Amino acid sequence: MIQVSTNAQAPNAPDANPFGAEVIVTGVPVVGGLAYGRIVKPGARPGFGDIDATEIAESLRPAESERFAAAAGVVADRLTERASRNSGVAAEVLIATAALARDRGWIGAANKAISGGAPAALAAIAATDQFVEVFTNLGGLMAERVTDLKDVRDRVVAELLGVAEPGIPVPDEPSILLADDLAPADTAELDPTKVIGLAMRLGGPSSHTSIIARQLGIPCVVAAGALGDIDSGAMGYVDGDLGTVGSSPDPELISVAVAQAHARAKEIAGWRGPGRTSDGHPVAILANVADGSSAREGARAPVEGVGLFRTELAFLERADEPSVAEQVALYREVIDAFPGRKVVIRTLDAGSDKPLKFVNNTEEPNPAMGVRGNRIVKSYPEIRDNQLRALGEAAKGDGRSAPWVMAPMIATVDEAREFAGAVRLQGLIPGVMVEVPSAALLADGILAEVDFVSIGTNDLAQYTMAADRMSPELAELTDPWQPAVLALIAKVGEAGQRANKPVGVCGEAAADPLLACVLVGLGVTSLSTAPAAAAAVGLQLGEVTLQQCRNAAAAALNAVSPAQARDDARTKLG
Ligand code: PEP
Ligand code: MG
Repeated sequence: MIQVSTNAQAPNAPDANPFGAEVIVTGVPVVGGLAYGRIVKPGARPGFGDIDATEIAESLRPAESERFAAAAGVVADRLTERASRNSGVAAEVLIATAALARDRGWIGAANKAISGGAPAALAAIAATDQFVEVFTNLGGLMAERVTDLKDVRDRVVAELLGVAEPGIPVPDEPSILLADDLAPADTAELDPTKVIGLAMRLGGPSSHTSIIARQLGIPCVVAAGALGDIDSGAMGYVDGDLGTVGSSPDPELISVAVAQAHARAKEIAGWRGPGRTSDGHPVAILANVADGSSAREGARAPVEGVGLFRTELAFLERADEPSVAEQVALYREVIDAFPGRKVVIRTLDAGSDKPLKFVNNTEEPNPAMGVRGNRIVKSYPEIRDNQLRALGEAAKGDGRSAPWVMAPMIATVDEAREFAGAVRLQGLIPGVMVEVPSAALLADGILAEVDFVSIGTNDLAQYTMAADRMSPELAELTDPWQPAVLALIAKVGEAGQRANKPVGVCGEAAADPLLACVLVGLGVTSLSTAPAAAAAVGLQLGEVTLQQCRNAAAAALNAVSPAQARDDARTKLG
C-alpha cells in the first residue's frame, strides 16, 4: 500500500514518490541531503501516573525540599559536565538547559508545592506546568523553551524516582531518528555517524533542534505532522531537500539516490568560495554569528565575513545592562575574528522571542508586535547610545575596519534616518534590517537614508503572513518561499539596484541553496547563513548564471504556493 500524506506536496510535484516508498510523510525541509537507514524512535519519557502522591508530613517537608534541590543539582551538574565535553552551539544549549535546572523561579515554585505537602516529584511537575503556561503565553523563542523545561523536569523526576535518565537511543548502526520533538540537550550530542537523518513531528525551522541539525549537517525535516504513520524498525529515509520522510523505499532506487547525495556532499565540502554565479556575478557569502567563539568557528567556513552578529544573544541571561567596556571586548572578539573583512553587527533585538531582562520588563499582550528591536530607543535611549558607543570604541585600533551597524525592526523612513544619524556619529556605517513589510514597501526612502539594508526573512515572513514564526502548525505559512514574501523581497532588491546600495539577506532563507539563487535573481547582493550552510549555498550559486537566477525569481514570483514556487524555480535553474 502506498500512502502519501499530502500536507506539503505540490499538486504538480514532478514525482510524489520517487523512491517507491510504502509510506511518505511530508514536512518542512530544514537541512538538505538524503539519508537512508533503520528507523529508530526515542523511548518513552517517564510516566507520571504511578508517582506516590501521599502528602508529605509537615515535619518531613524541609527534607523533601532538600531531596528536590539535590536532584535538580545532580541534573544541572550532569548537563554542565556534558557541556564541558562539547563546544559551539552544543555547549551553549547544554549550558542553557543546565541553567533551567538551577532556575530560582522554578525551584521556588517547586518548594512552594512541597511546603504545601506535595512530594518532590509531583512538585517538580507542578512547578513546570506553571512555567510552561507562562512561556507558552509569551510565544516565540520563550515558547520553544517549553521543550527544554519539560526535559529538565523529566530528568529531575527520573533522578527522584531512581530510574534511568531519559534520553534518545544511541543506535549501533547508522539510523534515521524520528521523534515528536527532541530536547535540545539531546540533539546537542547527536553523533552524526550514528544518527544520519532526523525528522520531527513538531518543531519549527528556527527551533534549537533545527539549528543544531544544521550545524551537524544532518538531513532534517520538521513539522512532519503524520510521522506517527511510520513505524520504527523498518528501513527509511529523510530527504532534507524535498522535506519528505519515507519508509521501506525500493532499495535499489534509494541506494542510487544516496550515492548521488554523497557525491554532492563531497563537492559541497570542497567548495572554498568566493561566492559568484557561473558567469561571474559576485554575491558575498557571509556568516551569522552570536559571539566571539562562534565567529572564530565561522571564520573557518568559506565565508567572506559576518552578515549578522545577533548581539542580544550574548545577554539573554543578564539581569543588568552589560558595561560599555564589556561590550567593547565582545564586539572586538567578533571584529578580530575577521580581520580586514566585512562585519555586520546588529544592535540589540530585545523583545518578543528574545526578551532581555534589563529591557523588557513590562508585560505586553502581543510582544511580537510590541516594543522590540530598535523600538526600545524611546524608552531606553541610553541602552542604544551605550551600545553604539561601545561599537565605535570596538572599531578603533590598528588594522580594524569599521563594522557595518544595522538596526532591527525598522518600520519607517524616520526611524531609519534617526538610526543612521546616531551610527554615523560614531564613525560607523549605518544600515537597517528589512523585516517589517512597511520597510520593504518604503525601501526607496529607507535606502536614501542608510548605506545598506539586510532582509530578515524570518520576521518578514512572520509579519507578512501574520503567522508566528515558531508555530509548527503554521510552518507552511511562514515558509520564505511564500510568493507574497518573495514579492516584498523583490521590491527591496529593485530599490537596492536603483540606489546602487547593498541588499543582503540574513534570515534562514539564505541557507536554502535553491532559494539563495532566487534571492540573487531578485537583486540580493549578499547572503548570510549559519556557517555550516555556506558551502552548499556557494556551490549551488556557482552552477547557475545570473540570468537563470532571474528566470527562477520570475517563476517563483508568479507561483501561487511555496511548493509551486520551489518546483518552478528548480525547473528554471536546471
Ligand atoms: C530575521 O528575522 O530573519 C532575522 C535574521 O532576525 P532574527 O531571526 O534574529 O529575528
Ligand atoms: Mg528578525
